[in-house]
Amino acid sequence: MKKLICIVVAMVLLIFPGCSTDKAQETSYTKYSAQFYGTFDTIVQIIGYSQTQEEFTQYAGQIKSRMEELSQLYDIYYEYSGENNLKTINDNAGIQPVPVREEILDLIEFCQDWYGKTDGKVNIALGPVLSIWHKYMERYSADPTGAKLPEIESLMEKLPLCNMEDVIVDREAGTVYLAKEGMSLDVGAVAKGYATQLACQEAYDAGFTSFIVSAGGNVVAADPPLDGVRSGWGIGIQDPFTAEELGGGNSIDVAYVNNTCVVTSGDYQRYYMVGEQRVHHIIDPDTLMPAAYYRGVTVIVPDSGIADLASTTLYTLPYDDSRAMAKQMGWEAMWIFADGTVECTDGMIPLMRDRGGADGLLK
Ligand code: ADP
Ligand code: MG
Repeated sequence: MKKLICIVVAMVLLIFPGCSTDKAQETSYTKYSAQFYGTFDTIVQIIGYSQTQEEFTQYAGQIKSRMEELSQLYDIYYEYSGENNLKTINDNAGIQPVPVREEILDLIEFCQDWYGKTDGKVNIALGPVLSIWHKYMERYSADPTGAKLPEIESLMEKLPLCNMEDVIVDREAGTVYLAKEGMSLDVGAVAKGYATQLACQEAYDAGFTSFIVSAGGNVVAADPPLDGVRSGWGIGIQDPFTAEELGGGNSIDVAYVNNTCVVTSGDYQRYYMVGEQRVHHIIDPDTLMPAAYYRGVTVIVPDSGIADLASTTLYTLPYDDSRAMAKQMGWEAMWIFADGTVECTDGMIPLMRDRGGADGLLK
């Protein structure tokens, strides 16, 4: 029966035809798939069951256009057609409050709320530090000649510009103001998952209920596949140790889930090398250096925005603290260490094919 489970490998770009079909055996529903690129710098794949191709195409189109819209609102590098976005906020740091759409106010307040609940490990005000790292990453991942780490002093001198308290959201005025010149927001740890949640929830509310959406390592699973056969979606968790092999390597395990999200933070997709040291993109705000505890952390959390924040948060914490945080928050998690050891929360194990056997979900 396991063969029948539909498996998507998180963080691997599976190649589907533009819209493929796989006729369901016992229902009037058919499986369709689609993918698009261009939002949040990643491929988005949609697999879902609909009664007609037209219906699926309409829902997939709805998800795509919402993701495009949110990707533009949450962009820190470009502005679009005169609409204020995060770049506008950053450009006006220390100058003036910027009127923005509700989706931006909501995202920033969401991040502020969780910053307080999670010891400030994910700090969207860390932009001035992260932009230094970003420049190093861009340069040395393209050409490793002379690759080095930024000077710690140059990172530390930006710290006074990284206070969440200086991010001022005025709900009534509908504005966001960064109180000091030189401040900037970086929502890379959260925005993709947050946007995927909004887009998927809206499609679900419109009637698209049986689907998974994978936005580069961020997988939302809705109701079970409507094929009359399977009762769960199988989400492959990429093996960091083989991730760079052609085709994305192996799955380290497969999570069988419905109505939840599977999100991974890892060191194997965005990084550069300094000698033997892998310098990746998740920065511990206490050391200002890449967090050094794991190859990857995968979480299973019902809301994709919280899941995105959770995977980055757990990735930046040493194991005991990370595990305690997961427990306190009720997040299921899997930690993959540099020596290949894997640890899971108790609630994660029954969801995993190879660890707990998720046979409960199989018919
Ligand atoms: P990915 O974007 O690859 O899915 P994450 O969700 O873990 O991975 O987010 C990593 C991104 O978050 C980085 O590229 C950077 O933009 C941002 N970031 C890195 N460290 C932090 C941090 N401590 N707090 C807030 N944002 C961070
Ligand atoms: Mg994240």
